[in-house]
This record gives sequence, structure tokens and C-alpha cells, in this order.
Amino acid sequence: MITGKTQILGVIGEPVTHSLSPVMHNAALAELGADFVYVAFPIAAAQLETAVAGLAAIGVTGFNVTIPHKQAIMPLLAEISAEAQAVGAVNTVWRTERGWAGTNTDVAGFLAPLQALERDWGQAQAVVLGNGGAARAVVAGCAQLGLKVVSVVGRNPDKLKAFQRSWQGSLFPPPLVHAWEALPELLPQADLIVNTTPIGMHPQVGATPLEETVLAGAKAGAIAYDLIYTPSPTRFLTLAAQHGLTTIDGLEMLVQQGAAALEIWLQSPVPVDTMRQALKAHLGR
Ligand code: NAP
Repeated sequence: MITGKTQILGVIGEPVTHSLSPVMHNAALAELGADFVYVAFPIAAAQLETAVAGLAAIGVTGFNVTIPHKQAIMPLLAEISAEAQAVGAVNTVWRTERGWAGTNTDVAGFLAPLQALERDWGQAQAVVLGNGGAARAVVAGCAQLGLKVVSVVGRNPDKLKAFQRSWQGSLFPPPLVHAWEALPELLPQADLIVNTTPIGMHPQVGATPLEETVLAGAKAGAIAYDLIYTPSPTRFLTLAAQHGLTTIDGLEMLVQQGAAALEIWLQSPVPVDTMRQALKAHLGR
């Protein structure tokens, strides 16, 4: 029940009305009996500064940040975690005495299903497909896991070089970068293959970032991780499973980045399984 004391959480973005975050956060808040509500705020890029000041003025407890504001919000924050600075994007903001503070929980979200596998990553190699925003959280996550080699594969040589340069002097080492054509040589060495491109996402469900002939060369026992969560499985993960690879889809990353954010706002443990089940029910899974 919304009362006079109900506190506000939310997500800012544009577009944001399709966001799944209200579903999972409100399910968790209801389970906890916490007097909070989580809502989506559509905010145009030109209104970001005004909106962030307004969220402070009306006493919002904290909020998530999604496209197109993940980088643009950074100059508006009083504090940014070292991890978010290295990733170059903020997805979670909370109130401090000095103003808003921000971090990036996508890294923890990406890592959670890999850490659950309890593997020794020290000698492992990763191939990351794509060099966009999500790839940044993945590269930071791979570095945190302690992977020996992280190779980022992209289609645009200039963007790839800029991506590599952007890690210099940061908390995490720059990854190797390769053209898409290098995949047949990279895959047989890879213990972890991560798709961070939107190839195969609904409605392009027949598309795959890796053709079957290339996937056939993947290392036995490797993990195929697709950040996409609709459809489930994607064609990439279907093909990977057919070749005996362990598969992980993007739902758990979504759940775990949300759980990490809610823990920051509530400063207490949160019901992760309730969040997972709420999302699954919403997605019809
Ligand atoms: P983004 O910043 O637009 O990056 C997309 C990357 O994919 C870019 O490097 C782009 O290459 C590359 N790409 C796109 N189409 C391609 C194609 N046909 N061939 C080769 N490369 C292609 O997007 P993002 O924010 O990183 O999101 C990427 C995906 O991750 C989306 O499907 C999103 O839903 C998913 N995601 C999931 C979670 C989760 O919690 N599970 C979190 C974040 C993102 P160029 O740079 O050359 O354009």
C-alpha cells in the first residue's frame, strides 16, 4: 500500500517504459514489506540535469540509470565508485550527504552466474563479442575474475582501438582486440565466450553472432554466455548447447545487477529468488 511515508526508487532512461526493473524491484519490496515504490521515469537527454536535481529535491532514495544516460549522468554525481569510473558508466545512484553517489552493478550482475560455477579462472581465456556499453562491464568482470587473456572482437576497427585505449590507466588492464575474422583462431583457446552484441535478440531470433561452423571449433568444456534474455535460449546458446558447451543467458545478470542495486538502497539483504521469479513470470518463462 502506498502511504504518506512511502519512499521512492526508480529508473531513468529514454525509452524506459519497457523496463523490467519495476517488476522485479516491486516484487522484492512487497516480499520485504518495505514501504518503497519503484517507478520508471522517462527523461529526455536534454532534461537530465534538471531531472536529477528534481529527484534530489523530492527526496528520491535512489535510482537506476539506463540508456542514454549511463555516461551523461557521471558529471552530475558527487561520488563515483572506482569500478564505475573504469567501466565508464553508472547504472545505480544513491543519496549521500554530499549529493548523489553512483556505481555500476552490471559488473557484479555479469559475474554472479560465473562465480556460482566455482571454476579456477587463473589460466582461462575469454572471447567477448562486441565492444559497446555492455562489453565494458564484461571486460571489467573478466578482469575481476582474474582471467589470463581477454579478447574483444568487433566489426569496426576504429571503435575497437578506441575501446582498447579507454582502459589505459584504469583499474583494469586493457583487453586484446581482434577483427571478427580472427574468431576461428580465437575460439579453440576460449574457456568463456560472451555475446554482448544484440545479434539474436527478439525479434531477430534466427540470427546468431557465431555460425555453427565457427562454434564447432570451440574448446570442449567452454562456457557460452549470452547477455540477451529474450528469447531464451537464443540461437547462439542453442547451437552452443548442441556442441556440448555450458550455457548462461542474460536473465541472471539482469536479476543480479538489480539485487545489487536494491541492497545498496535498502542497506540489507534482498530476496533475489523473488526478483528472479517475478521476471520469469513476466517474461512467460
Ligand atoms: P551497444 O552499446 O549498442 O553495443 C552493441 C555492440 O554490438 C557494439 O559493439 C556493436 O558494434 C555490436 N554489434 C551490433 N550489431 C552487430 C552486428 N550485426 N555485427 C557485429 N557487431 C554488432 O549495446 P549494449 O548496451 O552493449 O547492449 C548489447 C546487448 O546486451 C543487448 O542485447 C542488451 O539487451 C544486452 N544487455 C543485457 C544486459 C543484462 O542484464 N542481461 C545488460 C546490458 C546489456 P559497433 O560498435 O560496431 O556498432
